[in-house]
Amino acid sequence: MIKRFSWVAALLLVVGTAQATEASPRPGGVALIELGSAALPPPRVTLDDKPLLVMKRDGLWVAVAGIPLDTAPGEWPVMIDGQRKTVTVAAHTYREQRITVENESFVTQSQEQLDRIFRERKIIDGVLGSFRDVPIDGIALAAPINGSRSPSFGYRRYFNDQPRSPHKGMDIAGKTGDPVIAPRAALVAATGDYFFNGNTVLLDHGQGFVTMYCHLSDIAVKQGQTVDIGDVIGAVGATGRVTGPHLHFGTYLNGTAVDPAIFLPAVGASAGT
Ligand code: ZN
Repeated sequence: MIKRFSWVAALLLVVGTAQATEASPRPGGVALIELGSAALPPPRVTLDDKPLLVMKRDGLWVAVAGIPLDTAPGEWPVMIDGQRKTVTVAAHTYREQRITVENESFVTQSQEQLDRIFRERKIIDGVLGSFRDVPIDGIALAAPINGSRSPSFGYRRYFNDQPRSPHKGMDIAGKTGDPVIAPRAALVAATGDYFFNGNTVLLDHGQGFVTMYCHLSDIAVKQGQTVDIGDVIGAVGATGRVTGPHLHFGTYLNGTAVDPAIFLPAVGASAGT
């Protein structure tokens, strides 16, 4: 059963007027590429032969490309109707983070655990790499919970001094059981209890725009159902590889992790308590 909060109307207002969605052409950021009048059919925009999100904004078609964290600064090519166009990607150095975890299995895994991680990785990558071709009228997101946001996206992480993949989301403070809401209308693409991510929900907002919610104590939705902005999708928890309860919030475009802060309203602008 999906619950909805009374402040959803206020939330819609906030999202509708959010100015937080900005071009941020750095590794882990987004490039907004204007494509011409929306009175004409949209051009096809691709990156490595994969389609990019194209939305209508202020009477123009605009492509929204996620720039992978490992992109070198400089000219970055996309194809627009078969023509090469470059975006200038700025240099950006993310901070280093060193984490000590007691459960050694979260640092070095057994073969059985590696097999499980591999199976789960395929499910997650399948969702991130999918392209559901539906119209999109914006990319602004409501805050999924109203906790304080750690600027931890992109951190280069070491677990017990061993290098691991960079942190591909934003950690938001919360208590176990706090409701997590859908930040925009979506199809529930997958749910599961994953080794590192714990209880997880993946939402598909269309055209490769995917959001991810990890370490949940409870999952309130099922794969294949649709959710609207403000619908409760689960609750904050401490499942998977964590040091305490919080929400790991991931945002993805064209299969690549980008900084969730780009899509959220400024801190203090969000509704609710
Ligand atoms: Zn995290």
